[in-house]
Amino acid sequence: MHEIQFAEKEIAATEDKILELMVNADARDKQVKIAQAELKAEAAEIEKEKVEARERTAEDEKQLSEWRAKRDQMRAGVNEDLLRHYERVAKFRGSGISEVLDHKCMGCQVMLRPQIYNDVRTGQQTVVCDSCQRVLYFNPANEMQALEPEHKRSRRHHPKIDAPQAWYYRQEFADAGEVFLCFANAAGQATRRVFDMHTGRLVGDILIREGDFRHAFPEDITGAIRLNGSWTEREMENWGIEMPMTALDSLHIDLEAAQYEMKSRTSAKSEKPAAVPTEQAAS
Ligand SMILES: [Zn+2]
Repeated sequence: MHEIQFAEKEIAATEDKILELMVNADARDKQVKIAQAELKAEAAEIEKEKVEARERTAEDEKQLSEWRAKRDQMRAGVNEDLLRHYERVAKFRGSGISEVLDHKCMGCQVMLRPQIYNDVRTGQQTVVCDSCQRVLYFNPANEMQALEPEHKRSRRHHPKIDAPQAWYYRQEFADAGEVFLCFANAAGQATRRVFDMHTGRLVGDILIREGDFRHAFPEDITGAIRLNGSWTEREMENWGIEMPMTALDSLHIDLEAAQYEMKSRTSAKSEKPAAVPTEQAAS
């Protein structure tokens, strides 16, 4: 009896297990079916992408061979020495030509000497950049875009009247010609530095007078154009007798903007009365 009872219990437990397994198998079956459907959809999507990629590649290859043919045709018209130079620079620097914008080689960002800049602008001869050797070219349309929006879009930032350091431009200064002047107030004293506006070299000695620079150097400030510029005393000490190109550039750019601003202000004033007679004459 005992053995029978034991065996029956075993049977019941096994039946439970079978039932459980069957339920699980059903759920698994469903999961497998879902996964198979997903796989099928994904495979179809990938097939579609493959076809698209093949089409793109064919189109790219067609364009590439067209461009290659155009390139060969154009190269045939270029001086061989120049081509060799171009190839060499392109291999070394990744590009063999560079646009000139705002007196600068866009390839290496170095300012061009005025003579070189003029040669590039006139386009009479081929000019290469002194510092990076790229062949230079000039596009007047881009030059206008590069210069104009800067003045027109963002209004020039105006220097603070009570700043401890102030930069000015003077057209004439003793016999130095055009200069940038830098004044600084510190500890009750005013310091004056004078720089040649073209070379950035310090002109004469650094002058120190008692009091605020506006009262200490009034004759230098009168008639001068106030500019944006701020460098620490330590930076300027490190400059030695010549300010770096970046500082000189930023003063030149601000001066240009200041002059542009002054010009447009005066022309805006005189425009209105002048516009009436011209319009009448035109009609
Ligand atoms: Zn360059």
